[in-house]
Amino acid sequence: MTDGPTPAMRQYYSAKARYPDAVLFFRMGDFYETFGEDAGVVARELDITLTARGRDKNGDRMPLAGVPHHAAEGYIARLVNKGYKVVICDQVEDPKTAKGIVKRDVTRVITPGTLIDSSMLASAGAHYLMAVAPDRKETFGLAFLDVSTGEFFVSSGSGGREYAEIVSEVVRYRPTEAIVPESFGDTLPARLESLGVPVSRYRDDAFDPDAAYERLCGQFGTTTLDGYGCAGMPGAVAAAGAALCYAQETQQSSLSHISGLSTRVPSGNMALDAITLRNLEITAGIRGEGDGSTLLSALDVTETSMGSRTMRSFLIAPLLGKDAIEARLDAVEWFFDHALERQALRATLGDFADTERIAGRIAYGNAGPRDLATLRDSLCAIPDVKTLFPTDAPVRVHDALDAMSDHAAVTDLIGRAIVDEPPATARAGGMIREGYNAKLDELRHLATSGKDWIAEFQQQERERTGIKSLKVGYNRVFGYYIEVTRPNLHLVPPEYERRQTTANGERYTIPDLREKEAMIATAEERLTALEAEIYTELVRTLVAEVAGIQATARAVGLLDVYSALAEVAARYGYTRPAIEESGRVVIRDGRHPVVERHLPVPFVPNDTELDSAADQIMIITGANMAGKSTYMRAVALCCIMAQVGSFVPARHATIGIVDRVFTRVGAFDDLASGQSTFMVEMLELANILNNATAGSLVILDEIGRGTSTLDGCAIARAVVEFLHGKAVAGPRTLFATHFHDLIDLEGTLKRVKNFHFAVKDTGTDVVFLRKIIPGATDRSYGVHVAHLAGIPKKVTDRAMEILKEASAREFSGGPRAPRYTQMLLVDPGERAVQENPAVRELKDLNPNEMTPIEALTTLCRLQRIANGERER
Ligand code: ATP
Repeated sequence: MTDGPTPAMRQYYSAKARYPDAVLFFRMGDFYETFGEDAGVVARELDITLTARGRDKNGDRMPLAGVPHHAAEGYIARLVNKGYKVVICDQVEDPKTAKGIVKRDVTRVITPGTLIDSSMLASAGAHYLMAVAPDRKETFGLAFLDVSTGEFFVSSGSGGREYAEIVSEVVRYRPTEAIVPESFGDTLPARLESLGVPVSRYRDDAFDPDAAYERLCGQFGTTTLDGYGCAGMPGAVAAAGAALCYAQETQQSSLSHISGLSTRVPSGNMALDAITLRNLEITAGIRGEGDGSTLLSALDVTETSMGSRTMRSFLIAPLLGKDAIEARLDAVEWFFDHALERQALRATLGDFADTERIAGRIAYGNAGPRDLATLRDSLCAIPDVKTLFPTDAPVRVHDALDAMSDHAAVTDLIGRAIVDEPPATARAGGMIREGYNAKLDELRHLATSGKDWIAEFQQQERERTGIKSLKVGYNRVFGYYIEVTRPNLHLVPPEYERRQTTANGERYTIPDLREKEAMIATAEERLTALEAEIYTELVRTLVAEVAGIQATARAVGLLDVYSALAEVAARYGYTRPAIEESGRVVIRDGRHPVVERHLPVPFVPNDTELDSAADQIMIITGANMAGKSTYMRAVALCCIMAQVGSFVPARHATIGIVDRVFTRVGAFDDLASGQSTFMVEMLELANILNNATAGSLVILDEIGRGTSTLDGCAIARAVVEFLHGKAVAGPRTLFATHFHDLIDLEGTLKRVKNFHFAVKDTGTDVVFLRKIIPGATDRSYGVHVAHLAGIPKKVTDRAMEILKEASAREFSGGPRAPRYTQMLLVDPGERAVQENPAVRELKDLNPNEMTPIEALTTLCRLQRIANGERER
């Protein structure tokens, strides 16, 4: 007969059976142990030694890996941040009082999307759990829940175009986990996982729209969800209900801080698809997070975590309504004009804690004493904040102030209950202030007076026995004892009862000491228990204040963002944009908000004039490295910033509201989805052509590069023709290209205009002037850039030779030479010399004697001559 599993292992198997997809941390003594496959995961991912103990159900050696319980949080955080789900099975009764085997049960389920402990959250940013539920045909309801703050909203997306809308929402909100119904197909989950979002399948009934509706109403204490704007969105409701259910189950708590939700209709905000968010580096750099290249990094000088999260949510969802945009701009302008108030607010907010998350932890019941003290200190600043603003401050500022309460009752309660500098956790006690609870004070007195008694007792005994080195000590096994060293043993009085012999002497006790010891021990035990009880009760009382604290926290976040945008505007010389409901974009001396910060030289500002009904399409040519991409992105960022409600980096800007920004920039393989460079380019282009409206802004940075020159050029030309169309207006478009053949489109399509970037060519060197001017160029100066990049001279010289031969063949009427413009390594030179009437004059020029201005004027004039009547 083989031995069955031990009783503890039986508990383990029963817990594991309930959570087969999670790594189970099983408490044994001072360790959390993991077994079997879980142990393999833990050993691999956390670099912990894998051992084996006992036998598993099949009689094989059972792999085992354990972590000390006091250090478990760190290990769990690492696992969860890698996408694993962790289940904690803890002792749920005191091992000291337990009869037989200690009871264990699952106390926490920690998943990437439902982390709440501050120590485990990787950053102060939002941390969303996303739920996806099927809606009507081909559409999906989406819900996003930040369990740590209670932020909760729904939206929806179509399943078309490889789930492009859903992918956009994922890129926008970067959820840390997604849940989908168990019976869901595999394609969307696979797509989500390719974007780095761990997907958990969750039971179907949680996604049932009716049950979800009920659950949400129950949570929010309402009878209907109509007030939340999600009427007629059963998929979104189903997703929200499932997200809430999942969060409640994993947290094993009712999560009372989740008290409502909002509906983000994609049509309420400027649509920024995933590609555009990435290309314009709005919140994440192309090279990864935090590389300082993002718009967010350029604008986020907020002082609080709430401000930082709000800033991010503003940037990923610019507004469409003129009034709403103007209202934000008014608030920013007020702070811009009131520098003293702005600095005062920012100074006050500098010490303001993440009260939104603390409120979440209060609701969840795991707020530590230090959390409460920080909350008290932060809330105490609210009255000061309120007095900073006059009654005529703009509406948005007053909206925020109205949403803020002083929370006098909360600060008073915490002030009375918690000491000034409490410990981080309540475990060891010492956080409740004297005077808050009479019983606690009494026990404390008892415990301390007991200790004083011991000190006095030691003194008395020394005098009574004449043993100067007599000491009263304490250890866990024997409690308090009197220690006498060997040379003094003859002085020990008869009533001393011997307890232990040590290397240096003997340890004794007497009835008085034993009695006092019992009193101290019980006083301390009762003290710890009572203090914990008082603390738990205090946190429970504060739960009723959670919704109000959250509202205040969010309002603080808004004020923080308005003042931060004003601060950036003042520091870097931004101006308030004029907002119109039109198809225009007029920018004078516009700059790129991020590039200008990183340049060792001054940024050269540029103008833009776009009009969907007149100057609709700018075809931008010019040397490599001239500044085309920077320019186009600056225009797009300026529109986005304006619609976010921010000032813009320009001397003047008039922005006709843009409904969507589309970008097609550069080329890279989307290996995760198994698509080639060119396929990715065409997919992105298809999205633009199918969805851009006359209200959109389209940035095309080179089209058709991933295929043959002939195909690429044909596609590029057809794209411009399509965007121009036959209607009276079309999407405002900036199109940078090295296909110089396209410049003749200006002659055939009336809303197409050529522009190029000026360079100063001294014959031996090329200087980039970074200035955009009307008219086209057919030179890319690729060989120069190749040289700058360090391509060996042998290669550039040879490239030049090849190109000259090719050009000669072309112009001598020989077989048609391939076009090299796409390669951009060499300059076709000769062609211009032979064909242009401006050449003679060009030959007579001495560039070395010209000033940059003369060069530029001459260049423009020459170009006009060269382009004849097509020039403006
Ligand atoms: P390519 O055709 O090779 O893609 P490009 O014309 O798109 O080149 P950008 O990438 O926009 O060139 O710019 C090249 C560099 O020039 C930028 O990294 C920046 O350092 C600098 N630059 C661009 N615009 C300006 C400007 N307006 N003022 C100063 N420096 C600029």
